[in-house]
Amino acid sequence: MNLSVPERQKLKEVEDFAISRVRDRATEIDESSRYPEDLIGEMAKMGIFAAYIPREYGGLGFSLSTLMESIRIVSRECASTSLIPDVTVSLFGEPVLKYGTESLKQKYLSRVSKGTIGALAITEPGTGSDAVAITTSAEKKGDRFILNGGKTFITNGGEAQFFLVSAMTSPEKKHHGMTLFAVDKEMSGLSIGKEFHKMGIRGTSTTEVLMDHVEVEEEQIVGKVNDGFRIEMDTLNVGRIGIASQAIGISEGAIRDVISSNDGQKSSRSENFLFKLADMVNMLHSSVTKYNESIELVEAGKDSTLLSSMSKLQAGDSAVKITEEAIHLLGYRAMTAELPTERRFREAKITQIYEGTNEIQRMIIAREILKMGRTSF
Ligand SMILES: Cc1cc2nc3c(=O)[nH]c(=O)nc-3n(C[C@H](O)[C@H](O)[C@H](O)COP(=O)(O)OP(=O)(O)OC[C@H]3O[C@@H](n4cnc5c(N)ncnc54)[C@H](O)[C@@H]3O)c2cc1C
Repeated sequence: MNLSVPERQKLKEVEDFAISRVRDRATEIDESSRYPEDLIGEMAKMGIFAAYIPREYGGLGFSLSTLMESIRIVSRECASTSLIPDVTVSLFGEPVLKYGTESLKQKYLSRVSKGTIGALAITEPGTGSDAVAITTSAEKKGDRFILNGGKTFITNGGEAQFFLVSAMTSPEKKHHGMTLFAVDKEMSGLSIGKEFHKMGIRGTSTTEVLMDHVEVEEEQIVGKVNDGFRIEMDTLNVGRIGIASQAIGISEGAIRDVISSNDGQKSSRSENFLFKLADMVNMLHSSVTKYNESIELVEAGKDSTLLSSMSKLQAGDSAVKITEEAIHLLGYRAMTAELPTERRFREAKITQIYEGTNEIQRMIIAREILKMGRTSF
């Protein structure tokens, strides 16, 4: 990673914050399922939301690496606290930055920089993996579109002030009939429905987002009419790197639990301990290598589809395996909240599911390889 001196200094600041402010709060955030509002405020002041946003929109103008490394560092302590800025910036800020009009960028990006929360609302009941099967409709009426439909399992749903919403503008055209709209929370007809209680990342809100005749001006379209599916997939190419960074941070935390535990030191004499630790570190290393490569591609303006999916698949599957093995090595204490390891195991699981399950990542990887005809790396 080619980071400038100010970027390195920022990451040192993030690390100090994660250790001194987040580490001790993570268990309480998990047990209370409470949104960590104070920590989010502190991250906003520190510039984590602003890191990747260009200076002309109130950001710090740092690289994607700086954002992703911030997410990774905070995830070592608490994967709820890290997810909130990750989703806001990579799933709302990034597509507005890349595809929004100048007026949309002016309207939203300085707010993202300051830590106003955003969300991406794609999933509907029964249409998680099949993103084109959504039924939310956007009907044109003069210079406006009328949105009707319901989204579910939306991260940051409780706190987001703006949502990037997918809706069908020409349902008969399927992939070529979807459009993305920036929708403000205060728009008439938008409401937040049920909030879900989850096995992990409990400090984030995950809610329904309901739209009943929400009138949206044409200028709220991100990209072009009927070009939403392509933009959504492009957005997820960056989003999946964010999930890899989260999964890597969770894995690093679990390996630290094992190495720093007294039990670990005792059992370090056993071959079983050494073999398992070696496998855990080997998996982590493979995850980090793919993650770094995917960031390099995005930063070079190249297509990262293959590597983004490979990073998410590798890092997510590894995080589940690494946290599970960490519990195994640590024994009964790791089955309780005395150690953070059982929380990390519950946090790791979601990284195999959201932003496309790991089966969907396998399909993308295989299709990309077949398309390229690539047999060596
Ligand atoms: C905590 C949490 C936060 C989330 N946040 C957001 C958010 O912010 N915004 C948003 O839009 N969505 C969000 N989601 C939704 C998430 O993206 C979906 O859960 C995910 O895409 C999978 O969809 P599904 O749950 O409907 O599972 P399904 O699509 O029903 O899949 C069920 C199983 O079948 C497999 N499967 C499905 N189709 C195929 C196929 N073609 N080939 C092989 N296997 C297949 C899947 O891999 C999975 O194992 C969130 C979900 C969770 C749990």
